Amino acid sequence: MLENPSFAFSFKAYSEKKKSYFILPKLGNINENGIYLTGELISFYDILRMTYFGGYLIITFKNYPLLGKRTASWKIDKNNALVIRSGMIKDIKRAFDIFISQNAEVTRRCGHCDNPINWDHQLETQYHYCNECHSISDKHGLLFSNGELFDICPETGYYDRLGYRRKYEYYFFDKKFHWKTTKYYGGDNLGIEFFHKNILKNLMFLIGVPGTLIEFYKANKGHHPDFTELAEANFASRCGELKEAADLYTKMQMRLPYFPALHYNLAIAYLQSNNEELARRYFQKSLEGCSNYEPTLKVLKYLSEKEG
Ligand SMILES: [Zn+2]
Repeated sequence: MLENPSFAFSFKAYSEKKKSYFILPKLGNINENGIYLTGELISFYDILRMTYFGGYLIITFKNYPLLGKRTASWKIDKNNALVIRSGMIKDIKRAFDIFISQNAEVTRRCGHCDNPINWDHQLETQYHYCNECHSISDKHGLLFSNGELFDICPETGYYDRLGYRRKYEYYFFDKKFHWKTTKYYGGDNLGIEFFHKNILKNLMFLIGVPGTLIEFYKANKGHHPDFTELAEANFASRCGELKEAADLYTKMQMRLPYFPALHYNLAIAYLQSNNEELARRYFQKSLEGCSNYEPTLKVLKYLSEKEG
């Protein structure tokens, strides 16, 4: 790794409509203080993160960055970010990561996207969470759950294996015809739900049967060896079968006692059955396993706002 990767680059800044603010590229450079764009400094202190997406480099700021006049006019206020394009965006991000990790006292590394995670003021927990790709790695940087594969299900709120799910509804029910296939992005527990909800109804015309069976098969096959009971546990919890869910989560917790997402799911299960006290206990446990686990921190913030 380079000790001091300072260098100059040419760049263009872009509005959120992907229009450049100027025709000819301008000059910037990066060094241990921060990034200079046309001579105006953006201090590392003011940068929350850097990500690249579709050939653009997105520089997201912490709350109120100190910016020069020109730089400030390029800032996209809605996102509190600046978007630039340059032949060297990957080098810029790499240099940024190096300088940031030099400034941070303790850094951990994401096992999936290799992003450095600032671990100052964090507890010495077994796992850490990456905000960029939503993966959980252990303290040696070994990946536990792949960010693209395992995450909080956007449909049900449980940590699960994610993918595209199809719901087949081809039946007459409740005085009306249902005749459609709907696509969702969600967890295995969603595939199981579609099966239980629709398989009998679909028997009426048979058209929806094969798809429903395939989705059920997909939701149950090839489970990660540590998470074999996960989809079933989530589904039980959603059906209000708390004891069964808790037993299944406990089984997995015996294999991975500190894994934050399992405690998180159990906490969500208790929350859904209005047992906030037990929910809080398991949210706490999830932070004991991973002190920066964002899904837990978000729910706890929500709960405290609700109270306050
Ligand atoms: Zn990551």
